[in-house]
Amino acid sequence: MPELAYVNGRITPIEDALVPVEDRGYQFGDAVYEVIASYGGKLFCIDEHFARLDRSMKELRFPKVQVDEIRKAAADLFTKADFDRAGVYIQISRGVSPRNHAFPANVPVQVVMTVRKIEEKKPSVRETGICAITVEDFRWGRCDIKTVQLLPNVLAKQKALDAGCYDAIFVSNEGIVREGSSSNLFILTGGVLKTHPLTPDILPGITRALVLDICLEKKYPVKECFFDKSELYGSDEVFLTGTITEVLPVIKIDGRTVGNGKIGSAAITLQEGLLGRLKK
Ligand code: PMP
Repeated sequence: MPELAYVNGRITPIEDALVPVEDRGYQFGDAVYEVIASYGGKLFCIDEHFARLDRSMKELRFPKVQVDEIRKAAADLFTKADFDRAGVYIQISRGVSPRNHAFPANVPVQVVMTVRKIEEKKPSVRETGICAITVEDFRWGRCDIKTVQLLPNVLAKQKALDAGCYDAIFVSNEGIVREGSSSNLFILTGGVLKTHPLTPDILPGITRALVLDICLEKKYPVKECFFDKSELYGSDEVFLTGTITEVLPVIKIDGRTVGNGKIGSAAITLQEGLLGRLKK
């Protein structure tokens, strides 16, 4: 089966799928999205992803949507594509309407989905860890809503690649470390794992929540608190978390070695814990 797309109920191979030019997601970034990963032919954390999608739409005052129907359509599309290891992308825009900033009246949302095979990261990345740079966080004030307005994230990622690194870490004007360009971030410092608290400045990552839960289970001391760039640089371990990222160790930041420069045992244990949950 080819990689598939869904546009408002119409399923086609991805390369044949088209979206109207007046889709508000296309013209205004007026759309929300989710990415769900599958392992062994099963979609992982589907409840959590749809709960977050629903919240994103409510926060942006989208028209009422039957989330259960979209969920069923996503599951059907995934089944049809028949991949063990896939990423299901779901994007919902505030509909198609003549260009006008104001919300359109009585226009249904537009639902677009794709199912693509996930290529596993090169083993070297997981085994050796990654290098990152820090970048100024110039995103908007509602990073807790998962919208398609990702230009700052795109620019940050490209800046990292241009610098010969793998990813970028957003740091606020005041020096507070927020998250990665498409992941949340944890540090291990003084024997305590720390991650940014849930505020409008970061995405409430589903993997972040799972990792916190695994920490509780393993009785790892963990704190959701602010920390700055100097604490980041001085950490024993740093790692990123995300649906596709899983738990990914960072061994160098802005050219400075993190800890002993090798992937750390907390990251290894938490990645194993995460994979354990996936197989449940
Ligand atoms: N922060 C940002 C900015 C992201 O784009 C992502 C990936 N969706 C995450 C964090 C991680 O979220 P999740 O674990 O739900 O994939």
